[in-house]
Amino acid sequence: MSRSPRSGGLDWFRLPAALLVVANHTSPLLAFSPEADHVLTQILARVAVPFFLTVSGYFLLPKAEREGRRAVCPFLRRTLLLYLCATLFYLPLQLYKGHRPGLLGALRDLVFDGTFYHLWYFPALLVGLSLVCLLPRRARWPVSALLYLMGLLGDSYYALAAAFPPLRICYDVLFHIFDQTRNGLFLAPLFLVLGGALAHRPSTRNRSARLAALIGALLLLLAEGRMVFSLALARYSTMYLSLPLVLWLLFRFLQSLDLPPRPGLRPLSTAVYLLHPWLIVALRGFAHLTGLTTLLMDNDFLHFLAVACLSLAAGALFCRFLRPRPSPAPACCWAEIDLSALRHNLGALRARIPPECALMAVVKADGYGHGAVQIARFCAGEGVGAFAVATVNEGATLRRAGIKGDILVLGRTFPPEFSEAHRRNLILTVADPVHAEELAAFGKSLRLHVAVDTGMHRLGFPSSEVDAVAAVYRAPRLRAEGLFTHLCAADSDTPSDRAFTHSQIDAFFALAANLKARGIDPGVLHIQASAGIYSCPALPCSLVRPGLALYGVGSSGLRPVLTLKCRVAAIHVLAPGDTAGYGRTFTASRPTRLAVLSIGYADGFPRALGGRGHALIAGKSAPIVGRVCMDQTLCDVTAIPAAVPGCEAVLIGSGLDAAAVAGAAETIPNELLSRLGVRVQRVYRMLS
Ligand SMILES: *Cc1c(COP(=O)(O)O)cnc(C)c1O
Repeated sequence: MSRSPRSGGLDWFRLPAALLVVANHTSPLLAFSPEADHVLTQILARVAVPFFLTVSGYFLLPKAEREGRRAVCPFLRRTLLLYLCATLFYLPLQLYKGHRPGLLGALRDLVFDGTFYHLWYFPALLVGLSLVCLLPRRARWPVSALLYLMGLLGDSYYALAAAFPPLRICYDVLFHIFDQTRNGLFLAPLFLVLGGALAHRPSTRNRSARLAALIGALLLLLAEGRMVFSLALARYSTMYLSLPLVLWLLFRFLQSLDLPPRPGLRPLSTAVYLLHPWLIVALRGFAHLTGLTTLLMDNDFLHFLAVACLSLAAGALFCRFLRPRPSPAPACCWAEIDLSALRHNLGALRARIPPECALMAVVKADGYGHGAVQIARFCAGEGVGAFAVATVNEGATLRRAGIKGDILVLGRTFPPEFSEAHRRNLILTVADPVHAEELAAFGKSLRLHVAVDTGMHRLGFPSSEVDAVAAVYRAPRLRAEGLFTHLCAADSDTPSDRAFTHSQIDAFFALAANLKARGIDPGVLHIQASAGIYSCPALPCSLVRPGLALYGVGSSGLRPVLTLKCRVAAIHVLAPGDTAGYGRTFTASRPTRLAVLSIGYADGFPRALGGRGHALIAGKSAPIVGRVCMDQTLCDVTAIPAAVPGCEAVLIGSGLDAAAVAGAAETIPNELLSRLGVRVQRVYRMLS
């Protein structure tokens, strides 16, 4: 599985891009030469806004593809809010300039031209992104490219349009609706689509080749810009033919740097972008008041430097105040879910199974306590197209969260649930002939997989009853799309269990062959859960159903996804002979430091671990003593001076494998994880 490129390069380039916008409004090179200033402000600086648009496409379009176009709505709402705030922020300057547009003019400013000279970026982003998301995927490239070409003819190449009277009339009409074509309709869509496509390109490390290509494209842009200028073609010079190529190669270069993400630079660049016009005004006022105009105003380069430094400083200050408060630190106990470990496990599982076989991620019981929606969403982003749950409700929860793809309900379902299953496009398991009759009586056709009982005696048609299974496939009302069984001792090494597992597999494939011999296509076949993937990796199936292995438990080569943590609530010092906890089951045999942990059996921490389990504090093992309470647990930290009130304790995680913890509680990791309580806050991270 190819690792997706790290986006740190994109974060870093936001700052120069924001400073290019500042340069665009301060003409720093004018003091040296008008040509140099033209090259910088009218040509090179034109990379900046398309860069921000491309970044938005890069992050948002893949999300919209994974989770549906509604997934961009929160971003659109936030951007709109920011735009409206910025509009108010610049209203005094706008009024001071004497700009009073009237109602229609105000509307046109708001939607197309921007409410202040640099603010057009926001409506462009809003309009462009909405447009791209509403377009069918196949139409995105051609439509956005066409719009861009139309935009060019109203911008840098206006002289060409003006040369043809009919075209000229069209543009004259357009320019009644907006001032320029550099807006959300013509300029933004292409760069957004470009960003979306770039997100799917694997990263390469070939930096020097990327840099050479980028420099070539920039030279092309320069040549084009100078040509447009010397032939006097432009109405405005904001859009160039070679700009999309420059952006593509710029991104490929930045991706090839493969730098770690720097999310802090994102709000900083936005703040610089937003604030600098006010700072230009403030600087002018300051210069006049102090008589420093020669230094701060008359030399364009020093003026630019002063505005750039002020903007950066004000931006940094602004970010300090406006930084979204980190979500409140979990007070009691929490589970850290490491999504990069999940990514690793998906890769490790894919490497074990035949190439034509796919993963069906089992996310029942709230994703084994990890959060079904978040786990399914992440898996979908990693290319997993099928999920399994135990109940219709669990499947509906995934659908409500926007999870696409196949969702198989593994449990027995009953007629009152069928219509919800149908509405949510869930696949139901047919458990037995009576169930098949109930399903056929439902009326609407439900998607089904047929369960086969090969010896576990849980759900399923006995593998010997070929006629009954064939009848399900032949029933006109039933849409049987798959056939599966479940192994009951695939994790066992004993010869008799191994023989039993093979008899289960043989019985299953014999049934599938028998159906085929009768002219029935059994559809997708699947057998293995996690243990089966490891003990019999090469079965000719279309799917495997890993649960526990996804979460990194039970097999070597996997990384545990979940770390269960809590805090030390208090420390007590016990004298020899003192007792502690319910029933006084612990007696100190020596001077003892006792830590009270803020986790109990109501959080899913097994009561059976009293006197048997361990916590890790400051990397050292602290034995659990006394009885585990509903909300609290005691442990002996005599040997851990670093254990103080408020410090963290790990209960499951690296160094305390879920399987070992479960073993100490005489259960299995599946039970331990799936019973983690609702009080345990789940915190999602990419730890890489
Ligand atoms: C729970 C379940 C799985 C996943 O099992 P793991 O051992 O966690 O991989 C697969 N198939 C069925 C039918 C299940 O019930």
